[in-house]
Amino acid sequence: MPQQLPVIVIGAGPQGLAAAAHLLEHGIEPLVLERGSAAGAAVAEWGHVRLFSEWPELIDRAARRLLEATGWAAPGAGYPTGGEWVARYLAPLAEALGDRVRTGVTVTGISRAGRDKVVNAGRAAQPFEVRGVAADGTELRLLGRAVLDASGTWNHPNPAGASGLPALGEKQAAQAGLISYRIPPSVAQLAGKHVVVVGSGHSAAHAVIRLAGLVRRAPGTRVEWAIRGGAPSGLSSADDQLPARGALGGRAQEAVADGRVVQVTGFRTTEIRRTGGRLSLVGDDGRRLDDVDHVIALTGFRPDLSIVRELRTAIDPGLEAVAGLAGEIDPNVHSCGTVRATGALELAQPEPGFYLLGAKSYGRAPTFLALTGYEQVRSVVAELAGDHEAAARNELVLPESGVCSGAAEVGGASCCAPAQKQPIRLGVKPAPVEA
Ligand SMILES: Cc1cc2nc3c(=O)[nH]c(=O)nc-3n(C[C@H](O)[C@H](O)[C@H](O)COP(=O)(O)OP(=O)(O)OC[C@H]3O[C@@H](n4cnc5c(N)ncnc54)[C@H](O)[C@@H]3O)c2cc1C
Repeated sequence: MPQQLPVIVIGAGPQGLAAAAHLLEHGIEPLVLERGSAAGAAVAEWGHVRLFSEWPELIDRAARRLLEATGWAAPGAGYPTGGEWVARYLAPLAEALGDRVRTGVTVTGISRAGRDKVVNAGRAAQPFEVRGVAADGTELRLLGRAVLDASGTWNHPNPAGASGLPALGEKQAAQAGLISYRIPPSVAQLAGKHVVVVGSGHSAAHAVIRLAGLVRRAPGTRVEWAIRGGAPSGLSSADDQLPARGALGGRAQEAVADGRVVQVTGFRTTEIRRTGGRLSLVGDDGRRLDDVDHVIALTGFRPDLSIVRELRTAIDPGLEAVAGLAGEIDPNVHSCGTVRATGALELAQPEPGFYLLGAKSYGRAPTFLALTGYEQVRSVVAELAGDHEAAARNELVLPESGVCSGAAEVGGASCCAPAQKQPIRLGVKPAPVEA
């Protein structure tokens, strides 16, 4: 493998940029390809959302060293919004990396140069071939000695349909602007409307809190919260080592308790009918939510595996996560996800030199944290640099995730117990969530 080739990193999000910083520290040239017009493009899209992690948990250590050499000063305590994470950390980091970050390039496929997926002969000695398309439509063919896919899952939200397929009529209703798949930047335009939030995770809780605030300000507003399983009590887990995240579910449940929001549990959306400008959601048991003006579906994300199709990969068939870590993060089993640090060993793929990192490595599992990813990146880059001892080391003990909805839904036993390892204490006070 020609050592002068760069390591190609897909995605200039928190994890891709951290990977580039680690590679540079090991004397390896990174080339980061980012589809957006600037680094942190996905985070910028949820820039209005306040994180439940504090600044120290959001900054990678190698990135910090690179930035501090430029005179940058790390923000202190406090919970940034996504926009602040970009402005005060990701954008300066991309700037420090200079032309090693190429924006406006969408990666469309990855393979081994001159070898399709089937061919064994000389495979591992061939460089990776990465195909992309630039913003002006130009096709690109780039070669790399290794590829780190940190392209996240943000661009592929799950549908409102409970089966994982869009509900009947969902696509048409979405095209008509009657369904959105993101936490809204502003809820003011929904004043006086009938809104249904679909989903049971922290993003759904966040949207519910904002809408409950709107109900106070604009009393004609009606909010229903449709949940596939039972009430998501685990969202407000007191065991959550991230207090701000643990507080989210509690505040959403308060809005349910005081009647501002009506929770509809066990509602599995199969069809979304349009009648005039309004919608009816139909559940698999025949129940209906009628006269709905807008649906906010916040049912999680899934990875785009199409770009890795020509590589030999080990992907968990259920979670679409890296197979080696799926057992650790499966919400069917770990209702609270006592997520431990994962590194090069767990992330290894049948294609040597290729890794899925960051949020994408978790596939559909909802428990990914920036700190988890920074430890992945540290370990994987050490492995690429030949420092197997550093790669095998675990430099982080992660907090519990507090995500309990999966096991609750399937009726499994909760494992919401304190982490086995001594967790690091992440923050002490809840972050404000603008209602
Ligand atoms: C609303 C929200 C709040 C969160 N809050 C927290 C929190 O408080 N604490 C915490 O630890 N974690 C939090 N997370 C989880 C996680 O840390 C973030 O999702 C984080 O952004 C994941 O980083 P990433 O680099 O893996 O992916 P992303 O940030 O999604 O970055 C991936 C990048 O790849 C680019 N890309 C995608 N496809 C391609 C392609 N084909 N070619 C080229 N580029 C591509 C995207 O444009 C994007 O810039 C939150 C997530 C969300 C959605």
